[in-house]
Amino acid sequence: MSLSLPEIRKNCFKARQRMLQARKEHWAFGAFNLDDEATLRAVCIAAAKLKAPVLVEVSQGEVDTIGLYNVRDMVDNLKSEYGVEMYINLDHSPSVDAAKRGIEAGFEFIHIDISQSNHEASDEDIIQATKDVVQYAKLTGALVESEPHYFQGGSNYFNTKIDYEEIEKTFSTPEGASQFVDATKIDTFAAAIGNLHGKYPVPKKLDLELLIKIRHAIDCNISLHGGSDTPGHYFREAVKIGVTKININSDMRFAYRKSLEKVLKENPNEYSVAKLISKDVVNEVAKVVESKIMDFNSAGKAVVD
Ligand SMILES: [Zn+2]
Repeated sequence: MSLSLPEIRKNCFKARQRMLQARKEHWAFGAFNLDDEATLRAVCIAAAKLKAPVLVEVSQGEVDTIGLYNVRDMVDNLKSEYGVEMYINLDHSPSVDAAKRGIEAGFEFIHIDISQSNHEASDEDIIQATKDVVQYAKLTGALVESEPHYFQGGSNYFNTKIDYEEIEKTFSTPEGASQFVDATKIDTFAAAIGNLHGKYPVPKKLDLELLIKIRHAIDCNISLHGGSDTPGHYFREAVKIGVTKININSDMRFAYRKSLEKVLKENPNEYSVAKLISKDVVNEVAKVVESKIMDFNSAGKAVVD
């Protein structure tokens, strides 16, 4: 069942208020990527156990596989089954049209990122696409997130070392952030301060001094992408500074695959893989979500209607 426009607006209004509250109270929404029903259930289990408000998110790959309206329905069904506070984010939407479809499907958070599909997109292209989505989002009140740069990496495991000298060249600057927010009127700025998509053989480092400067330079929400494999103390500090949305994907995918490989090996005669997933894998993914919720200081903060 699709949500009506008034229902969508009500959800978006609440999401907007809750992001402001998170900033005031120094906690962050975990934005957990969902690959399938099992990962969504894992997020619900963790959120219900810790009474934490959460976002689940899909990027274009999952949209193509599952379908926007199936995601909306699945989330709404499980949200009421588990009694959790949950919103949906369209992550790295590759085009203005795709972002508009997400707004129409009732997603409360829309991340527009045309540079993901076109690394050569100019600053003007990025600003214009972001402005178009901000304008269209007025239909529902969805929160729009963007950034003036291309985020490196991907939600996977990489064997290569992190080249910090290269990464630093792509860091956000307080001036650049301020200009971008002024030009686009976005709700959420995706900061680049050492965060990187994917898991690597060495832990990530975040430049918290830079984050403080960015926090002072702009008056909108700040998100961190590429949260996997980041030592927890960075998150605890970032949340104190005022980050209110942190994306997690690869750590969950890693737990999913490793635990699935283990149970398949232990149960060579079981052909109902879905049964093994719902029995064992879901709990392993839920543990990852729980540990992030603790780092994000969002346990006990849920407001369920
Ligand atoms: Zn991302």
